[in-house]
Amino acid sequence: MSELKFQEVGFGITLIEGWYEREGMACSYLIESNGAVALVDTGTARVSLHILELLEQRGIAREQVKYIIPTHVHLDHAGGAGQLMQALPEAQLIIHPYGTRHMVDPSKLQAGATAVYGKEKFKKAFDQLLPIPVERVTEMEEGMELDLNGRPLRMVDTPGHAKHHLCVWDEQSKGLFTGDVYGNSYPELTTVKGRYLTPVTSPVQLDPPAWHASIDKILAMNPERLFLTHYGILEQPAARAEQLHKDLDAYLEMATALPPEGRYEKLFAQINEYHQQQVKAHGCELSNEELDRLIGSDNELCAQGLEVWMQRQERA
Ligand SMILES: [Zn+2]
Repeated sequence: MSELKFQEVGFGITLIEGWYEREGMACSYLIESNGAVALVDTGTARVSLHILELLEQRGIAREQVKYIIPTHVHLDHAGGAGQLMQALPEAQLIIHPYGTRHMVDPSKLQAGATAVYGKEKFKKAFDQLLPIPVERVTEMEEGMELDLNGRPLRMVDTPGHAKHHLCVWDEQSKGLFTGDVYGNSYPELTTVKGRYLTPVTSPVQLDPPAWHASIDKILAMNPERLFLTHYGILEQPAARAEQLHKDLDAYLEMATALPPEGRYEKLFAQINEYHQQQVKAHGCELSNEELDRLIGSDNELCAQGLEVWMQRQERA
C-alpha cells in the first residue's frame, strides 16, 4: 500500500503522504526555495524512502536539502529523521532543545514506543530509529530564523502537546506548520460547517495550561493558513480556536470528575462518546464504527495522556 504519494499545495510546498495507520492520517511537508529544500516532519522510516524518491523525480540533488525540522520527537513526526539525515549529507536537524537527546540517542524513545506498541507492531510501523550525530543537530531558540535561500523560516516554541514541540512560521505563505499543537483534522470529517478539528492529548508530556497558551500565541501571529501534520492545510484557522480550547477543557473536566480507580477506561469511553456527539453536531453522518476507525486510536492516546497528566497532578 505504501508508494510515494504527494500533492503540491502552493507556495512551493508539497504535502507528502505518510501512510501512518492509514492514508490521510499523517503527512510531511517539503518546502522549496531557489534550489534549497527544507522538510517539516519526516514521518516514519518508510516515508524517508518516499521523500528521497520525490527529490529524484524533481531533479533535486540530495545536497540541496538544508534543513530537516521535526515539529516534535513523537515517532509519526520524527521516526524517519535518522534515515533522512544519513541520506542527506548537507542537512542540519533543527529540533527543540527538549528533543535533542532523543534524536542523538533514540534508544529510550525506541524502548518507550516498543512498550506501548509491542515489538512486532513497532517494527512494522517504525522499522528502527537511527541516532543522529550531535554535530549535525541545531537546537531551536524562540524566534530563531533559518534562511532557506532567501525564504525565512522562523521557529516558534509551542509547548502543550509535548514540551519538545515547535512550530515553523513561513512568511511566504503567511502560514504556520503546526505539528500537533493546533489539533488534528481528518478530511473524512469535513462537512458544510468546515473541518472538524480536535486536539490529541497524547502521553507523556501533556500540559493543558501550556497548550491553551500556545493556541493563543499562534492566533496572535495572525496566520492565514496552517499546515497540519494530521492532516493538510487549514484555512482561516482563527475560526477553529474556540473549539480547541473547548475540547481541552472538556477533556480535563471529564478526567478530574473521575476517581483514580478505573479512570483510564471510563475516560476512553467518555471521549469516544463526546466525539460521537460532537461529530454529529458538526453535521457528519459517519457511523460510530467508521468514526472509531478514523479517530479511535487518537481517542485512546487522549485518554492515556490525560491519565498520565492526572497522575502527575495527584503526586504533586
Ligand atoms: Zn505528537
